[in-house]
Amino acid sequence: MKALVLERVERLSLRDISMDEVLGPRDVRIKLHSVGICGSDVHYYQHGRIGPFVVEASMVLGHEASGTVLETGSQVRNLKVGDRVCMEPGIPDPSSRPSRLGMYNLDPAVRFWATPPIHGILRPTVVHPADFTFKVPDNVSFAEAAMVEPLAVGMHAAMKARLKPGDVAVVSGAGPIGVVTALAALAGGCSRVIISDVQQPKLDLAASLGPITPVNAKEQNLQNVVADLTEGWGADVVFECSGNERAAAGVFSVLCPGGVVVLVGMPAQPIAYDVVAAQIKEARVEHVFRYAHVFPRALALMGSGKINVKPLITDRFPFEKSIEAFNFACKMPPTSVKAMIEMPQ
Ligand SMILES: [Zn+2]
Repeated sequence: MKALVLERVERLSLRDISMDEVLGPRDVRIKLHSVGICGSDVHYYQHGRIGPFVVEASMVLGHEASGTVLETGSQVRNLKVGDRVCMEPGIPDPSSRPSRLGMYNLDPAVRFWATPPIHGILRPTVVHPADFTFKVPDNVSFAEAAMVEPLAVGMHAAMKARLKPGDVAVVSGAGPIGVVTALAALAGGCSRVIISDVQQPKLDLAASLGPITPVNAKEQNLQNVVADLTEGWGADVVFECSGNERAAAGVFSVLCPGGVVVLVGMPAQPIAYDVVAAQIKEARVEHVFRYAHVFPRALALMGSGKINVKPLITDRFPFEKSIEAFNFACKMPPTSVKAMIEMPQ
């Protein structure tokens, strides 16, 4: 089958690759429809590694995907041929200790699409466990369904925060993950999200999505804005999505007493953590790694209209132009959020 293959650093090709996938009794075969380009795909293309994961052999890219069920295994009951679906890209070992405890995203044996050495899904079809394949509501498009994967990170962060109705949240970073975290926070009960970044077009887009106050950190002081909007109390929740060392060091300064910080962004290096600043506020600090148990919730929120990701899908490319799409994503203009590749149908 023809796939988008990362051969090595900075070398992509659109070529035939043999992929003998056997349909197990609890699997479905899916015809891919839409695949979003993720920062991690771009990072592997440009650098060949993310932390301990190193590209050592040719690998098909892509992990944010939706499609149509072509075939079902003999024991599959929840899906049928023709269903429109999106897929959770990480497959854990169901009998591992983290999986048995419900933390399947933390299973070290998880096989995650387009994380070396596992092939991704920029190809015509894939076989996937039915347990990690979810039916998409009729009023949600394939492109939106492919956005469930990045949205799931924001959903998981919102779950970790244990939001309460009316909470005020700060999101630092208005990239794709920052924006979906803001949407998840609002859907989860936040009355307002204050989002900070240094790129004005990203802030403008975020501000158009709901009760979201943009703060350009180059021009405004985030702490003052938060103080003004909360009568000096501080934000109930801070979602650190930038991975930026300075932003991460400042999380406690905008937090209210007893508030929670969720660290979502992945800094390139270990960062300073002000223990005393956290202690003075008895801050709770949570971390997220990918997500677990949130795909059905994300789809339900999209289906009911509580979350609209359409404005985030800014650029579309046909599969034949996927190398062009990746080169575009490497130099993404600040007005773009998500580039989507559409597979031939
Ligand atoms: Zn992703």
